[in-house]
Amino acid sequence: MTLRTADKDVPEPVDESSSASARWRQLLPRVPHGLYIDGSWRGSSDGSTIAVENPATGQMLTEIASATVQDGHDALTAATAAAADWARTAPRERGELLRRAFELLTERADYFATLITLEMGKPLAQSRAEVAYGAEFFRWYAEESVRIDGRWAVAPDGQTRLLTMRQPVGPTLMITPWNFPLAMGTRKIGPAIAAGCTMVIKPASQTPLTMLALTALLDEVGVPAGVMNVIPTKTSGTVMAPLITDPRLRKLTFTGSTAVGQDLIRQSADQVLRVSMELGGNAPFLVFEDADLESAVEGAMLAKMRNMGEACTAANRFLVHESVADTFAQLLAARMDEEVLGSGVDDSVTVGPLIDNKQRHKVAELVDDATRHGADLVTGGCTMPGPGYFYTPTVLTNVPPASGLLREEIFGPVAPIITFSDDREAIASANDTEYGLAAYAFTSSLSRMITVSEALNFGMIGINQGIISNAAAPFGGMKHSGYGREGGPEGIHEYLDTKYVGINGQA
Ligand code: NAP
Repeated sequence: MTLRTADKDVPEPVDESSSASARWRQLLPRVPHGLYIDGSWRGSSDGSTIAVENPATGQMLTEIASATVQDGHDALTAATAAAADWARTAPRERGELLRRAFELLTERADYFATLITLEMGKPLAQSRAEVAYGAEFFRWYAEESVRIDGRWAVAPDGQTRLLTMRQPVGPTLMITPWNFPLAMGTRKIGPAIAAGCTMVIKPASQTPLTMLALTALLDEVGVPAGVMNVIPTKTSGTVMAPLITDPRLRKLTFTGSTAVGQDLIRQSADQVLRVSMELGGNAPFLVFEDADLESAVEGAMLAKMRNMGEACTAANRFLVHESVADTFAQLLAARMDEEVLGSGVDDSVTVGPLIDNKQRHKVAELVDDATRHGADLVTGGCTMPGPGYFYTPTVLTNVPPASGLLREEIFGPVAPIITFSDDREAIASANDTEYGLAAYAFTSSLSRMITVSEALNFGMIGINQGIISNAAAPFGGMKHSGYGREGGPEGIHEYLDTKYVGINGQA
């Protein structure tokens, strides 16, 4: 079942008994359904479960165990007990575990991609890309594990010797979102294993299956009992709060919305936890008058449509020079109309469903509000009836500056376009947000690339490219988009404490 969005028809119901879907469903029993604590799989202490849904059909895929406060406590106990031995493991040994995990994950890419598509909805090709991206964090940190360095120096007075060393932070709580169920986990697990930290991991309750499958893989490659503990739960706030205030925990790393991140920062103050926050975004996508428009449109499709727009780095606002704005809007709308909406397990589909009805409703409200206030709909703007949470790829022009579409994180396949007349105006408008995660700029001028990159207040900037994520680069934001970096040489430092030893050199 597929629908070309240009047809503007109602999609047929997804046929779960089709041979493709039936084949995918055979994979589900292979995924563990329990909690993983101290190297063993077990049920929830009160027997509670989470129903996992397929957003393309609205139907339940399976049920898994839902952790209680007691289970959370047990997980942290296991992580604490394993911490000292794990910290002493040879760096090469930790690196080899990661390398084996990279190889197995790459070998089993189809299996993991299928799980991602089933529980999250993105098309299979994008799920395969997520597996490749996610696996890269294991390969990168396999290589970084043996490069944790320190420093030796003579103090300015010539007497004291200054030895600086880096040691694992200790038991770390990891909370991850649903939009990249694999990569948002490996981006934390890779550097934590490389650094020698033990973990308690809570995946999003809407997409726990991928993390459970990944846990089984890490168990298979030999990650020791207690090092990694995985506790999906449907009562996140209740189960996480006592862990965050538990004195045995030493670090919290969170990827998710700014509102929840702010709450977790407050909670983590009691124990003065090391905290890393990867939060929401509102990425501007700037197209200058000297840009190659074809490549700007291709970049826009990547920056907007990857994950159906449900990415923290998704282009949220298109700022286009007034001399090329009409052409850009027409070209972008034409590319949007070529997209094929449907269940992501069908290889011909390029746009899957949104994660749930609440998210789709939010997207529809933002678009409706903008059009009510004068925005012009160039294409899309339709909530598709029938099973699944589909919303058509949408382009709008003349969007009023105060519109929620320009201020809020849309998290949907909607491209609002506004115009500017000079560089100063473009940069001021791009920076006019409390967020600071990602920004994009298309221009053929080298000096403009430099001035724009320096003037934009965002942690990551893509110049003439619509995708910036790279395991070898420091991913992270400024302002309300958070702090800390994942990936690159910077990523491992989030899991290391710096200790200095002063040695009397005159003794
Ligand atoms: P979310 O609602 O903030 O949830 C993220 C995680 O936090 C989930 O595991 C969720 O569990 C858990 N959670 C929710 N309330 C909690 C609480 N009171 N205490 C402890 N944990 C709690 O975000 P989301 O909707 O899953 O993800 C989308 C957001 O993530 C967007 O804003 C996006 O920009 C951001 N994001 C940022 C990055 C980045 O690197 N900057 C990357 C990806 C996504 P439940 O599933 O049980 O609610």
